Amino acid sequence: MNPSRRNLLKMGGAALAMIPVVAVAAKNDSIRTTMRYKGSPEGDKKCADCGLFVAGASATDAGSCKVFPGDTEISPNGYCMAWAQKG
Ligand code: SF4
Repeated sequence: MNPSRRNLLKMGGAALAMIPVVAVAAKNDSIRTTMRYKGSPEGDKKCADCGLFVAGASATDAGSCKVFPGDTEISPNGYCMAWAQKG
C-alpha cells in the first residue's frame, strides 16, 4: 500500500472514531397505553416531578422512566397513572 493511501485510511478511521455513539430513541407503546401515558401534565403533576422519572441530558430533553422498559422518549412534561411525587 502506498503511503498516501495508508494516510487516507488512517484519516478515515479517525473520522469514524469522532462520530458520537447516539442512543437510538425508542417508545414502549404497549406500556404507554396500559399506563395511560400522555405527553402533557395532569394538573401540576408531570414526569419531571415523579420519582420514577430518569431525566435526559437537560431539563427539557426527553428522558426515561423506571416503569417503562426500553422507552427513551418520556417527556419531562408527560404524565401517567403511576405518577408518584419525587421524594
Ligand atoms: Fe412519567 Fe408515569 Fe414514569 Fe412517572 S411513572 S415518570 S408519571 S411515565
